[in-house]
Amino acid sequence: MTDKKWLLWLQARGISMKVPMALIMIALAVIPLVTQSGIMLGSFNQGQLDARSIEIQNQCVVLSNKMTRSGYMTAEKKNNVILDNQMQTISEVYNGRIVIVNSNFKVITDTFNLATGKFYISEEVIKCFGGENSSHYNKDMEYLAQTIPVYDPANEKRVNGVIVITASTENLLSLTDKVMGKSQFFIVCITLVLAILAFLAAQILMGPFKRLQRTFDRVAHGDLDADITEDAYSETRQLSLSVQKSLSKLKAVDQSRQEFVSNVSHELKTPITSIRVLADSLMGMEDVPVELYREFMTDISDEIDRENQIIDDLLTLVKMDKSADSQMNMEQVNINGEMELILKRLRPIAKRGNVELILESIRDVTADVDKVKISLAITNLVENAIKYNVDGGTVRVTLDADHKYFYIKVADTGIGIPEDCVDRIFERFFRVDKARSREVGGTGLGLSITKNVIQMHHGVVEVESMPGEGTTFNVRIPLNYVPRQEAKS
Ligand code: ADP
Repeated sequence: MTDKKWLLWLQARGISMKVPMALIMIALAVIPLVTQSGIMLGSFNQGQLDARSIEIQNQCVVLSNKMTRSGYMTAEKKNNVILDNQMQTISEVYNGRIVIVNSNFKVITDTFNLATGKFYISEEVIKCFGGENSSHYNKDMEYLAQTIPVYDPANEKRVNGVIVITASTENLLSLTDKVMGKSQFFIVCITLVLAILAFLAAQILMGPFKRLQRTFDRVAHGDLDADITEDAYSETRQLSLSVQKSLSKLKAVDQSRQEFVSNVSHELKTPITSIRVLADSLMGMEDVPVELYREFMTDISDEIDRENQIIDDLLTLVKMDKSADSQMNMEQVNINGEMELILKRLRPIAKRGNVELILESIRDVTADVDKVKISLAITNLVENAIKYNVDGGTVRVTLDADHKYFYIKVADTGIGIPEDCVDRIFERFFRVDKARSREVGGTGLGLSITKNVIQMHHGVVEVESMPGEGTTFNVRIPLNYVPRQEAKS
C-alpha cells in the first residue's frame, strides 16, 4: 500500500487503543532506563578522567621532586639524561608531551623537541610560578593539560620551574564509547522485549472492551435482547449500562410504535365495521321503507364523518411529529383576542349542552406563537371541558401572564377523571369512557395534539381532576419563543 492509502486506511479504521497504551507503557519503562544509563555513562567518563588526571599529577609530582633534588633547573640540562628519559617515557605512556619552563619563561626541555629554547608564557604557567597548580580538560581536542611547579633546592618555597604536561584522553573516550555501545544495545534489546510485553498487556487489558464490541455488533444485527453486561472495569460497566438504557428506550419506542399501529388499525376499522353492518342489514331487508333507508344512510354518513375525523386528527399528529422549529409559523399574537374567538366558536356547542362558558382575562397578553396550532390546542381543551361536563355546568377559562410566561387555565365542573387515568389522558387513543367519547364525537387524539403543540412552544400542560367535581387544565407557555438550537447553546 502507498503512504496515502495507508493514511486513508488508518483514518477509516481509526487507531486501536492498544497502540497508545503500549507506547505509554514502553515510554514509562524506557525513559528512566535511557536517563539512568546516560547519567551512569557520564559519571563513568568523569571518573576515568579524574583517575587519569590524578595519575598524571602524581607522576609529575615525583618528577618535580626529583628535579628539585637534582637541581635540574639550575644544573646543566644535558647532565640529567635519566630525568630526560623518564620524561620521555611518561609522555609516551600518556601519549602526550612534557615541557619544562624555567623562571625566565624559557623552555629548557620539550619531549617533542619543538619548543626548546623558545619562550612559553601562558596564564597557567604564570599562575604556577605563583605556586598555583592547574589542571584543564579540553573536551573538543581530547586532551588533559596540567602544570606542576618545580621548587628551588635552596629555598623549597620558591618556584624556579614549571612542568607543563599534556596527555591525550582519546583512549579513555574510546573505552567510554565501547561501554556506551554496549549499553545502547542493551536498551534496544530491553525495548524490544518491553514492546512485545506491552502489546500483550494491552491486548489483555482491552479484552473486556473487545467483548463489549462483539456484543454491540450482535445488538446492531438485531439481537436487542443480547446480554451486554460487562463488569470487568467500572468504565465497561458504565458503558454497558448506558447502552442498556438506550436499548430499553429503543424497545419501548418500538413497542409503542407497534401499539400505535394496532390502535390506529383498530380505530379505523371500527367505523368501517359499523358501516358494513349497517349496509349488510339494509341489503338483507326486503321492501325497506324510505324512512328506514334514510335513518341507516344517516348512520352510515355519521360513521364516515367519524372515520374522516380520525384520519384528520392522525394527520395533524403525524405532521406535528415531523415539525421542526423551521416549520413553526411564529408571529406576535394577541392571546386575549384569540381566546375570545375560540370561545365564540364553541359557544353554540356549550349552549347545546347547557354549559356556561366564562372567559376571564386578567391582563392583556401578546406572545410569540403559531396562531393556528395554539388555537387548535386551546380549542381541544375548552371543547373537552364542554363535552365532559354536566347539564348546567360551567367552564371557566382564565388568561394571565407574568414577565416570562402566559398562563391559560381551563376549569370545568364536569364529570372529572378517575385518579388512575389522570396520567394516561395525554396518550394517543386513550379515553376514560370510550362510549361517551364516541357519543360526543371524540377520537382520543385531542389531548395528544394539545400536548404536542404546547411542547413545540416549549411550554407545559398539567391536569388536576376530582371525579364528580370537575377538571382543571393549566397551561404555561413562554411569551418569547426561542428556537431549540439557540435555547441549547
Ligand atoms: P377525546 O377525543 O376522546 O375527547 P382527548 O384526547 O381529547 O380525546 O381526551 C382523552 C380522554 O380524556 C377523553 O376521552 C376523556 O375521557 C378524558 N378527558 C379529557 N378532557 C376531560 C375533561 N375536561 N373532563 C373529563 N374527562 C376529560
